[in-house]
Amino acid sequence: LSWAILGLLWGCGSDSSDSSMSKRRQWMVPNDKIKVLTTISMIQDIVQQIGGEHVEVLSLITGELDPHSYQLVKGDGELLAFADLIIYNGLGLEHGPSLQKFLLGNSKAIAVGDQIMRTSPELFIVTQSQIDPHIWMDISLWNRIIPIVVEALTAKDPSHAKDFEENGLAVQKKMLAAHESIRSQMERIPSEKRYLVTSHDSFHYFTKAYLTDNQELETEAWRSRCAAPEGLSPESELSTSDIHHIIEHLQKYTVRVVFTESNVSRDSIRKIVAIGKEKGFSIQIAKDCLYADSMGHANGKELDYLGMIQHNASVIAGHLEASE
Ligand SMILES: [Zn+2]
Repeated sequence: LSWAILGLLWGCGSDSSDSSMSKRRQWMVPNDKIKVLTTISMIQDIVQQIGGEHVEVLSLITGELDPHSYQLVKGDGELLAFADLIIYNGLGLEHGPSLQKFLLGNSKAIAVGDQIMRTSPELFIVTQSQIDPHIWMDISLWNRIIPIVVEALTAKDPSHAKDFEENGLAVQKKMLAAHESIRSQMERIPSEKRYLVTSHDSFHYFTKAYLTDNQELETEAWRSRCAAPEGLSPESELSTSDIHHIIEHLQKYTVRVVFTESNVSRDSIRKIVAIGKEKGFSIQIAKDCLYADSMGHANGKELDYLGMIQHNASVIAGHLEASE
């Protein structure tokens, strides 16, 4: 079963593997640009904006592929060897053994999340004693990768240091404006409707940044604003206690709409809705899916990083506001 077919089954579109192959071949053509390989598209977008015409950036994991479990495939070794610079998320996101083995201790690989963690550990969310790697879900936190990328590009190509710095400042400004705009968009949803249930535990940072009342941040109270049947990586089988926990959550907070994610099977969400119905309360599955671990498409166009977060915000706001 190819990923293109899976994309169709899950109904959220995906990158065609043909265009992805030709992008790979094109990127391997030597020229005077810095060849940057990123693991996920959310990093690729930021590096491209900062590096501008001085870089050529390729994302190893594209379309609807799952970055948590991604394993190297034929041709990946060549890309990794060819890259001048490899930028990845870290924080345990890329834990497919063959990829992880390549990244750890690699002198040309930089883990943006791990670097932020070293200076600002208080910004990170820990769930069941694991650091949550989904830091791109809070724009103000993702913003902190900018100086790390600027520094890495400058080290490779000092002659364009000024361009990288200026581009970095411009991206930063755009990101902070988007962050504020999503905060106000979410504030308009009545507090009692601001509860998010998704496929896997990928929206904690989003919830903490955008769905929470300020006083809930002083304790762990904000955590009740989101829940998911699957854990930090969408690879676990649902246990009876997972199901019980979610059903209880839906009842306690009168959650009436649940969200699927583009690259996670809808089975667990469907199961939850069916069990909820048996218990006599009606839950809808939101008609648009969310993008958590992949950037996705909207109206036939590939989304960029901010487009992805804004898509999620609009889908969430629309469905929560309309819920009864
Ligand atoms: Zn994830």
